[in-house]
Amino acid sequence: MELILATGNLHKVREFRDLLKKLKSLDLLSLTHFPEYSAPEESGNTFEEIASQKALHAAQALGRLVLADDSGLSVSFLQNAPGIFSKRYAGPNATDSENRKKLLQEMQHLKDDLRSATLTCSLALASPEGIIAVATGKCEGMIAMEERGNNGFGYDPLFIKLDYDKTFAELGESIKNRVSHRRKAIERILPILENL
Ligand code: IMP
Repeated sequence: MELILATGNLHKVREFRDLLKKLKSLDLLSLTHFPEYSAPEESGNTFEEIASQKALHAAQALGRLVLADDSGLSVSFLQNAPGIFSKRYAGPNATDSENRKKLLQEMQHLKDDLRSATLTCSLALASPEGIIAVATGKCEGMIAMEERGNNGFGYDPLFIKLDYDKTFAELGESIKNRVSHRRKAIERILPILENL
């Protein structure tokens, strides 16, 4: 069965290849295989709404089964910012590094008890006929005082999961993929994919 990941983010694609590896019959493609497809401007107020919009738009345009991810970081002290705006926290074309720098600046004087944060991943599975399933996974933790580690992407060098003392970027991909927000969300989608 063919499944298209509605993302061009190569880090997300790598994680999904690992997260979905037990589905041996799955032929996993991503938007990099469809350069003629252009995704719409993101619209929606929640991770779930945005993931659903991405999945449905791509499924109808490409006429195939699509899995879309919308994810981000919410910091309690910042009233849950950057949230759905995580990718462009430091500006419309911000790099991951610029976003992390801005976050560290905003939080520079905060002690550990004010540094709690949550990574959220919403997944939507859609066919050209409509949405099949939506699922969300969350990972609670805190923001480190400085960047640590070279793996992963986005806020990984700053995010320390609850009960861990290393950032996701220090833990590396295989440990991250066992415990992450994306792992929790995909666990809810896997049984549905297995029965399609
Ligand atoms: P999206 O592509 O609109 O879903 O934006 C996702 C943004 O949230 C990314 O650019 C990262 O900044 C952040 N993000 C999402 N997932 C993760 C993760 O697993 N680790 C760290 N940052 C993440």
